[in-house]
Amino acid sequence: MKVPFVDLKAQYQSIRNEILPQLEAVCENTSFVLGPFVKKFEEDFARFVGVKHALGVSNGTAADQLAIQSLIRPGDEVITTPNTFFATTEAITAAGGKIVFADIEADSYNIDPEKVAAAITPRTKMIVPIHLYGQPADMDPILEIARKHRLYVVEDSAQAHGAQYKGRTAGSMGDAAAFSFYPGKNLGAYGEAGAVTTNSEAVAEFVGLYRDHGSRIKYEHEIEGHNMRMEGFQGAVLAVKLKHLPAWTDGRRRAAAVYNELFRDVPGVITPKEMPYSRHVYHLYVIRVKDREGLSAYLNEMGIGNGYHYKYPLHLQKAYAHMGFREGDFPVTEKVMKEIISLPMFPELQDEQIEYVVNAVNKFVSK
Ligand SMILES: *Cc1c(COP(=O)(O)O)cnc(C)c1O
Repeated sequence: MKVPFVDLKAQYQSIRNEILPQLEAVCENTSFVLGPFVKKFEEDFARFVGVKHALGVSNGTAADQLAIQSLIRPGDEVITTPNTFFATTEAITAAGGKIVFADIEADSYNIDPEKVAAAITPRTKMIVPIHLYGQPADMDPILEIARKHRLYVVEDSAQAHGAQYKGRTAGSMGDAAAFSFYPGKNLGAYGEAGAVTTNSEAVAEFVGLYRDHGSRIKYEHEIEGHNMRMEGFQGAVLAVKLKHLPAWTDGRRRAAAVYNELFRDVPGVITPKEMPYSRHVYHLYVIRVKDREGLSAYLNEMGIGNGYHYKYPLHLQKAYAHMGFREGDFPVTEKVMKEIISLPMFPELQDEQIEYVVNAVNKFVSK
């Protein structure tokens, strides 16, 4: 048996008949950049998240940058965790912010509100929690800290389409949020795409202008922006796929439940913890083991896809050597990130495939 890490082909085959006519309609309309197909998706996605505005942009990194840039001034400090994909901190820098790290909680792997409070200085302007692996960060204490210190909150929701925190949808709780529709994300385009969601008119206006050369009317430029527009094909694909997302999320949650059940009898494996406040959407199914490198090599041998999300804490990446961090600065992140390994996770994952994966992990850890 072979178990891929993700299976985008299985999903395409299940919706091929809905997708292809939409792609043809984009061609017939020549609506290749922004336009009616993107607009339709923006309206549907805003309703899905429960916000006033969703703005389609070129990718999730651009969404992160624009959500942040719309609210801060150059040099403002922005607090986030070293346990995220590199795009989050690249976006802070691109938006003119100064990266400040706060450590994570050992059980949720998300930003620790107490560590956020401790990282605040007079120059702090924003907190960027990441809803990592598909589980919302503990937003109530984060929003409370933000209120108290007059800080903005931008949710990095790139892995959390449809995830919920105490019944509120990820991407609706902060001042703005950023989504990625990279093909492997829970809601994936057929190419690059992203979106900013917000209830703020000011944020929506900034993002709408900035993504399109600062222009509302062609060749009239109110500000210097950039080209960060969503393509028509992506809007068309995403509008079709959004209708299926709730069923796909159920598929991921079912797969996670089967994994959890089978891992109950396997010592030496820490499974993901769904926090009482959250509805996890399992973008990734991440376990912790003592020897992840050994396990990864063994899974590769057994034909089982796997990965590290992520390989190294961001404060120890070469790109941030100039910030002068050392091993030991963020001990929870550092400990967790040496042990994590992601197993196959996608809505169509079969029980037999999950059994095969768990048996292989069991065989390795009980050696
Ligand atoms: C995927 C991702 C991004 C960036 O999205 P792209 O569409 O790949 O640019 C940002 N933050 C997190 C947490 C992500 O997982």
